[in-house]
Amino acid sequence: MPTTAATTAREILTGLHQVMARRGSAQAKLDHVVDLIAAAMKSEVCSIYLLRDNLLELSATHGLRKEAVHVTRLSLGEGLVGSIARENRILNLAEAADHPEFVYRPETGEERFHSFAGVPIIHREQSVGVLSVQHADPRGYEDLEIEALQTVAMVLSELIASARLVDATRRNTQRDSGAVRVVGLKLVAGMARGVAVFHEPRVIVHHTVAEDTEAERARVYAAFRRMREQIENMTREAEFGTSADLREVLATYKMFAYDEGWGRRINEAIDSGLTAEAAIERVQQRTRARMRDIDDPLLKERMHDLDDLANRLLRIVSGRMGTAAQTGLAKDTVLIARNLGPAELLEYDRRRLKAVVLEEGSLTAHVTIVARAMGVPMVGRIGDIRHIANEGEPVLVDGDMGAVVVRPTRTLSATFETRMAMSLRRRAEFAAIRALPPETKDGTRITLMVNAGLADDAAALEATGADGIGLFRTEFQFLIAATLPGRESQYRLYKSVLDSAGDKPVVFRTLDIGGDKALPYLQDHRDESENPAMGWRALRLSLERSTLMKAQARALIEAAGGRVLRVMFPMVSEPWEYEEARALVEKQLAWATAAKKPVPTRIEYGAMLEVPSLAEMLDLLLPRIDFLSIGTNDLTQFLFAADRADPRLAARYDWLSPAILRFLRRVAREAKAANVPVRLCGEMGGRPLEAMALIGIGIENFSITPAAVGPVKAMVRSIDAAAVRAKLESLLAKPPRDMRRTLTEWAKKQGVALD
Ligand code: PEP
Ligand code: MG
Repeated sequence: MPTTAATTAREILTGLHQVMARRGSAQAKLDHVVDLIAAAMKSEVCSIYLLRDNLLELSATHGLRKEAVHVTRLSLGEGLVGSIARENRILNLAEAADHPEFVYRPETGEERFHSFAGVPIIHREQSVGVLSVQHADPRGYEDLEIEALQTVAMVLSELIASARLVDATRRNTQRDSGAVRVVGLKLVAGMARGVAVFHEPRVIVHHTVAEDTEAERARVYAAFRRMREQIENMTREAEFGTSADLREVLATYKMFAYDEGWGRRINEAIDSGLTAEAAIERVQQRTRARMRDIDDPLLKERMHDLDDLANRLLRIVSGRMGTAAQTGLAKDTVLIARNLGPAELLEYDRRRLKAVVLEEGSLTAHVTIVARAMGVPMVGRIGDIRHIANEGEPVLVDGDMGAVVVRPTRTLSATFETRMAMSLRRRAEFAAIRALPPETKDGTRITLMVNAGLADDAAALEATGADGIGLFRTEFQFLIAATLPGRESQYRLYKSVLDSAGDKPVVFRTLDIGGDKALPYLQDHRDESENPAMGWRALRLSLERSTLMKAQARALIEAAGGRVLRVMFPMVSEPWEYEEARALVEKQLAWATAAKKPVPTRIEYGAMLEVPSLAEMLDLLLPRIDFLSIGTNDLTQFLFAADRADPRLAARYDWLSPAILRFLRRVAREAKAANVPVRLCGEMGGRPLEAMALIGIGIENFSITPAAVGPVKAMVRSIDAAAVRAKLESLLAKPPRDMRRTLTEWAKKQGVALD
């Protein structure tokens, strides 16, 4: 037997190289290849099975009967060979006939051989064939021999693909088994079709055999160094305002990036004659094969992390580092990612981006809010989507149902089209009520404003007929910029929004950064927060970085010259924070007045109620503010102590829980008694059933995502406010076990328009 796998593999690779360079038919080349491998591995049998017409056909053999070539065919999953191809797994058996999957094919004459080892031949991550060796002695193969076989299989795949010996579009594993429909979490409603584009594109390895092994090794070392640097940087950045989830992933990345075993295996693959790319991919194939066998979800997740990291290493080594946003989108895109930050999503071209599918994601994470603002349907929690779909394949995304279909059949496409047409019709119905007031049947006028944050969002006012912009998230401008936006560019944005809003009010919220809205260019390494959502963010940060806030206040004051300026502060936890922020704006106003700059006719100040502690201090705060705005996204995460960005908690606590509704009712009542208007601007208000319940507890002023204006208005126009109030009063006095179900059933009976 050979001394090391590397020498055997290298010997075969050199031979393969020569075979490939030779003239002759593809069949002649395959015949040569099996002889070559058999000789190098001192093996009695070497066979190649290739997938043709969805059957694994014995395409060349050394040692089995030649008459069986192109005659013996196995379906996927049939026999040892079929099972290797279907499961993408390796088999190493001392006694083949003892294996439960073994089937005997007399035409091959293989009864003489006892031991068997086979590896899949993988092309573009799908098995296109099997390479196997057999011996008469019942012996197990050593790990090193199996690795040599894998290396050879990898190079063979290149030969097979270039000679077009298999049908590249053939499907075998789950990833390729035709249409797949998966249901996840609805994040942003809407329906769209497009082709799969990976946020972090996969690299397809074309050249597998190295010309210069030492040069390849140097490339891998350099790539490892670069990858470690990147991870160190990401970890440093993550110290400021990212979710605990991301930091956990980064910790795992770091562990793998420095893992000696991984580096060693890649190095060994290089020793065997592979290029840097092929070596990384070969080791990655092993990880993937192991991933399939693991049941423990936690371990599986870690293997996913390693897979992610191997992709990153491949991208570095092949010089393809950019995300799909940087490389430009060619056509209608369904963006696929494990997760995205809001800034990353904002980098995409809105005209080409049709939908987003995430493996993680949650309803109130900022990336979801951004997708909603962009009008891009989004489905989350589709675990494994990056393994189910291939780049460039057609994908249907149904954000209304939370479903994703990869490689749809004609029937699935037709059903989708029908639903899409219905959804468009519904939208047309909403458009038809655009000019009608959001008034209940018994005459309560509800105020419906929109949430905005991007320059062209103001257009939503016209499109939806909303009453104004109730929350302008000023941090979006900061999130899309590579460097801190100056006062001048802030001024231009605010002015253009006010200009397009005309007579309708616009409420600007001062910078709310931190938490999951991290700005790479604004970090503070003192911030060691384990829990950034509760850390140094929003007003806490702004009051400390007062230069930033002063610049923003000046920009707002000047942009609102000659009109009313409405400004509110995020994450006020105690009244003094509000006072300090307000004083800061007042000071800028005094300065602008003295400098004879244009100033607003009046400034209305508001506080956001997002931290429960503030509710306890309303008696002191209310006399000082012009309006109160409830941010239910943050408020509910703090009330329930449930991270809004944690996908595992996404479906756990309900906005319709009695605790939340009672809390909000108390706030609404207190504000009403003090004659201070209350608005609700969290995502909760954009859902018809939730909005109905909120009207029932006395909240009549909403700022919601533009796409929700139609559905919420339709709901408002179908209810009797007095009846809803009475119902909520009785339900909250003695809450049912399932508030959502009780309310839904009641609403249906009352004929409330819920979608
Ligand atoms: C909220 O927390 O409800 C809110 C409106 O603010 P944001 O979602 O931007 O944190
Ligand atoms: Mg908030």
